[in-house]
Amino acid sequence: MTPAPAADQSQPLEKGLYIVATPIGNLGDITLRAIDVLRRSDVIACEDTRVTGKLLKHLGIAARLQRHDDHASDAARARLIALAQTQAVALVSDAGTPLISDPGYRLVSEAREAGIAITTIPGACAAIAGLTLAGLPNDRFLFAGFLPVKDKARADTLTGLAGVEATLIFYETAPRLERSLRALAEIWPTRTMAVARELTKLHEECRRGSAAELAAHYAAHPPKGEIVLLVGPPVAAEACEDLDSDALLRAALAEMSPAKAAGKVAKATGLDRAALYARAVELKAG
Ligand code: SAM
Repeated sequence: MTPAPAADQSQPLEKGLYIVATPIGNLGDITLRAIDVLRRSDVIACEDTRVTGKLLKHLGIAARLQRHDDHASDAARARLIALAQTQAVALVSDAGTPLISDPGYRLVSEAREAGIAITTIPGACAAIAGLTLAGLPNDRFLFAGFLPVKDKARADTLTGLAGVEATLIFYETAPRLERSLRALAEIWPTRTMAVARELTKLHEECRRGSAAELAAHYAAHPPKGEIVLLVGPPVAAEACEDLDSDALLRAALAEMSPAKAAGKVAKATGLDRAALYARAVELKAG
């Protein structure tokens, strides 16, 4: 591979929009190219000027900062796009890769429509860092952002993802982790999950187990800090056949009708709902 020619750092940057990833904890995790672009940008659009100001101070960069978040008005976005027609505008978020559960999507979309030159300077992203650390299957994965906070909305989201044959990646907060794990234990008792916490920081941790095991651990040791929650793919069909579906059905029948029990176990295991219903009726009868 031919290395890209080194940029002439004495020259102004080409006009356009530069999407720049910043660290997710460890300040060393920023690329040489990101530092160069931030140093030479005319304007840096950021979520919080204090947060980005601290990073720039650490890097010894004095820059013109302009606030840009998900609530930016159409007019504010239009002003940034107008600036990028003639100057170099860098977009950063508080941490990690802009647009990934962070602002920027509308700005980039509208900048593209306006014919602005757009470049990305990739770097740290908590979802990818968590995936590499968890040791779960990574040939296919689906990033699903933050889980909804309300129980019903969370359950609906998980049910909608039940058939996805991939590792699922969620962002989560420490106060909500245990509740989310309990919801996951209900719907997917047999999948392997991982909690990746405080990535790249002093207290980095990655813990794997079933949702019930992880929920019990974090009930006893309330977590702090930032969290990526990963859910391994559905158990393969052959493995499902080995599951003790009778035990799952009996547990469900203690609380609900055969039809609902069959639905719950079908969702959790991927087994056939009709067959489970027939078996639930038998078990109920005696
Ligand atoms: N754009 C960022 C990225 O590229 O990862 C994500 C921003 S999102 C608003 C913040 C969430 O990312 C946190 O609530 C947490 O779930 C996850 N996160 C960010 N930094 C993390 C870290 N160091 N360790 C674990 N999770 C992290």
